Amino acid sequence: MTARPRTECGDDRIRPRPLHPAPRPGESLTSWLSRTCEVYSLTNPAHLLTGFDIAARDLDRYTAEPILTALAGRGAVPVERLRLMTLAGWTPWLLDSTDPVGCDFDTYVHQFSILLPADLSMEDRRRRTPTDDAWLPWVSAMGNRACPTCIDSLESSADITVRLLQQTSVLSSCLDHRCRLEPCSVLPGHAIFWDQVRFGSDERVPPVPVPAAVTEMDRRTTAALTTGWVDLRPGRVHAAVWFRLLRTVVDEVSTPLCRTGRWATRLVAIWRVAGYSRPPRTARVPFEGLRGDEQAKVLGAAAAAVTMIENGEIDAGGAHASLLCPRPYEPVDPGTAPTRSYYPAPERDAWAEVHAAAEAAIAAARVDPTSARSLYNFLRWGCRTARELDETVQLFVDHGIPLQHPPT
Ligand SMILES: [Zn+2]
Repeated sequence: MTARPRTECGDDRIRPRPLHPAPRPGESLTSWLSRTCEVYSLTNPAHLLTGFDIAARDLDRYTAEPILTALAGRGAVPVERLRLMTLAGWTPWLLDSTDPVGCDFDTYVHQFSILLPADLSMEDRRRRTPTDDAWLPWVSAMGNRACPTCIDSLESSADITVRLLQQTSVLSSCLDHRCRLEPCSVLPGHAIFWDQVRFGSDERVPPVPVPAAVTEMDRRTTAALTTGWVDLRPGRVHAAVWFRLLRTVVDEVSTPLCRTGRWATRLVAIWRVAGYSRPPRTARVPFEGLRGDEQAKVLGAAAAAVTMIENGEIDAGGAHASLLCPRPYEPVDPGTAPTRSYYPAPERDAWAEVHAAAEAAIAAARVDPTSARSLYNFLRWGCRTARELDETVQLFVDHGIPLQHPPT
């Protein structure tokens, strides 16, 4: 049951609202709806959507087209822009579908093998397969996350928003400030409450810097969603390849050492460079089911693994490691330059060509009446006297051209 907005009357389903805050870059749909509610002193986004029951819906995951159309008509924001404020706008790049039925775990996570041979730990992989039917890649049940420095730099609380990508577990840092995203609760356009700060306290959250490898990984992830492709060392790959490749590496660095044979030394090196101990739960819980701090460590290890493979610091045993490995130097045979001494260009002799043409014309005239007539007319064209004409006839006799052919 939805209530009508207190500030309007009549057919409010089609009348544009006079005040509608523009969506901020990367803002989620519910964040924008909440900020719009602030403008109209409404307490529930459902009041903006009279006639639609949205109470039990996760609008940031998927919003039906009729709702998007209604919002576009009232808020002067195109449907396409609104759709990109939901996870459904990022299918099939980030995920195959926002419906778990359309997202197969094994297909998404294991279609590539990067760090480890695909058949090395098949049994171990099954331990991390989700047991419920609600799994979606990079989608975790967690609260909001935000960059403390970004929030501190806002001019007013009205600018507080929720960025959709920061709420997924594929991202762990702020690209602008190269610091960790911190857990919080956000009231868009109103207030933010940090988990690590006592409620009601004015204490600020200090930004925690992240390694360069994590920043680079998050930069590629952001580029994938904004440009549709990612530049890797061997070349450019589609955004969908990047997200699946990255999820594969996340699963591989989560594999217990005892399951990785001789490749265990690479995993040890990766976690040492990342600066973390592998959280024990990573061995049996899918990445999306881990806590936020556990996910940050796994992403740090994945970032370290990608960087180490790309720099040639470790070798990778997966079938698709070439997606990250720098392309080896392959000298190209310059070939043999052509030399004129072997193929001398003949000098052109114009008179020889005239002589050859005359010989060909005479040979043709001997057997072909038409050719003989053409040759006779050509030679007669230069004759000025009867004697010169007789000499032409004699020329035909001397060269064996039948006399009956030339016209008289
Ligand atoms: Zn920031």
